[in-house]
Amino acid sequence: FGFKGCQKIRGPQLRNLLEAKDFILFDCDGVIWHGEKAITGAVKVVNSLIRHGKNVVFVTNNSTRPRENYVHKFYRLGFTDVMLEQIFSSSYCSALYLRDVVKVHGQVFVIGCDGLRRELQEAGIPCVEEADNPDATIYNCNLAPDVKAVLVGHDDKLTFLKLAKASCYLRDPDCLFLATDNDPWHPLSGGRILPGSGSLTAALEVASGRKATVIGKPSRFMFECISSQFRGVDPAQCLMIGDRLETDMLFGSNCGLDTMLTLTGVSQIEEAQEYRNSELTTNHSLVPDYVVDTIADFLPAFED
Ligand code: PLP
Ligand code: CA
Repeated sequence: FGFKGCQKIRGPQLRNLLEAKDFILFDCDGVIWHGEKAITGAVKVVNSLIRHGKNVVFVTNNSTRPRENYVHKFYRLGFTDVMLEQIFSSSYCSALYLRDVVKVHGQVFVIGCDGLRRELQEAGIPCVEEADNPDATIYNCNLAPDVKAVLVGHDDKLTFLKLAKASCYLRDPDCLFLATDNDPWHPLSGGRILPGSGSLTAALEVASGRKATVIGKPSRFMFECISSQFRGVDPAQCLMIGDRLETDMLFGSNCGLDTMLTLTGVSQIEEAQEYRNSELTTNHSLVPDYVVDTIADFLPAFED
């Protein structure tokens, strides 16, 4: 007990913290919105931060849409000033990783939504075309000869055939195994959940005996994408705000950023305190530096 972290922050202290930071990194679902509904006060908070000269960026593990669609979504929900350059999604960062880091030569086999495929195409990365043959099975289908990476994201049209093909491609040790993110599940309204792409990746990890390279939070790569696109990003000048300890807070810790948990999403303060009080020191990377009930708590900081 008495370890650092989980500090509930508001009022003048919160104001000082925000004043001290140049870059505010927001996770999206559970922080800015719940699905198609903006969190109360979030529009005002984001607008005020931008008006006060802060660099605001959005870091989402949701791989289902290309960045353009996020600009539209922000606009639809009332965030009228958010631009493409502020959006870092796991699909966009996966495309950058394939293009700029591994410089993939050959095709990518994608398990994911059309939005992920579109983001890859925009980066000039060829994806294996899926034929719509209802009679295709793993026994009679064609496998492409030049698949150099399997990329797994959220796929709401997953089939056994896709899993089987991916497992075949992964037999080749020169074929990379990437995952847009490793999220286990996502909350829906009414207590329902969606299995996340982490659950699909796990299936392929078992089938292939390999471990996927994760692009999204908590991996540092998304922060590298941000630093390469904004000059002079100093981790000490950044605040990462998220609702999930295992992705957002760990991401912040991994990148040397101050972290803030907001209680409008997945993780509860009790879980954070448990990690803080844990004897396992690796758990301490999951502990937020600060906690707020909602980002609407920022609003008084902008009033003079
Ligand atoms: N992936 C999918 C498919 C989702 O539906 C969600 C949340 O709704 C996420 C990832 C997590 O998104 P974020 O990182 O913005 O919380
Ligand atoms: Ca979230």
